[in-house]
Amino acid sequence: MVQQGRCLFASMQKDYGVVPDADHHACMVDLLGRAGHLEEALELVETMPLEPHGGVWGALLGACRLHGNPDIAEIAAKHLFELEPNSIGNYILLSNIYALAGRMEDVSRIRKLVRGKGMKKNPGCSWVEAKDGNIHEFYAGEMTHPKSKEIKKALEKLLDTLKREGYKPNLSSIVYDISDGEKEQVLKTHSEKLALSFGLLTTTAGSPIKIVKNLRVCEDCHLVMCGASRITKREIVLRDNMRFHHFRDGVCSCGNFW
Ligand SMILES: [Zn+2]
Ligand SMILES: [Zn+2]
Repeated sequence: MVQQGRCLFASMQKDYGVVPDADHHACMVDLLGRAGHLEEALELVETMPLEPHGGVWGALLGACRLHGNPDIAEIAAKHLFELEPNSIGNYILLSNIYALAGRMEDVSRIRKLVRGKGMKKNPGCSWVEAKDGNIHEFYAGEMTHPKSKEIKKALEKLLDTLKREGYKPNLSSIVYDISDGEKEQVLKTHSEKLALSFGLLTTTAGSPIKIVKNLRVCEDCHLVMCGASRITKREIVLRDNMRFHHFRDGVCSCGNFW
């Protein structure tokens, strides 16, 4: 509905005398960017009558991740680094975009920059509600939960079933330079997958599974959640640091845009 968005945006001022503010511009950049009109989105930012805030540049950077455009991403990131110097998420996003484009030298340049600033990435952490209402916490790569063995086994089984139906692990979700086999292993230990597996093991069949995650959900976990909702006939609600994802019967409410 890009064309409709363009019309509404223009109509604000023309028909109603409402001058679009920075937030309206951020929405427009988001709309154009998600639909792949990155050049037009950039032009809108560069010609907007007021100073673009972090939300505007952030929408553009997110769209560059979605459509794999490191050149426009660099422009957006440069502004974000000035506006939000302590937000590590922007550095990680740019680094991911470089990695997807195969620009590993740029990836290590960003990593050095982050290290030089003394910034640290929060470890991924997910919380899931058990049948009794208690909340269980899972960290990425951690196997300290009393039911760890069963959780791991159930997850392997779920992933095998998904693979038989065509699921391929999304290795580009891992940006460090390790072998594909190792990447697949790392993906398996993401906190939301552990939480999902625990939820499937411990809640009543048919009941929804509710997970909260501290960081943005990765492409691979999103894919697995979609598949899991279909084959287990469970509704999965995953709240990451950006939005709610409602997975039902193989599809997510976010329409795979997040
Ligand atoms: Zn993940
Ligand atoms: Zn989603």
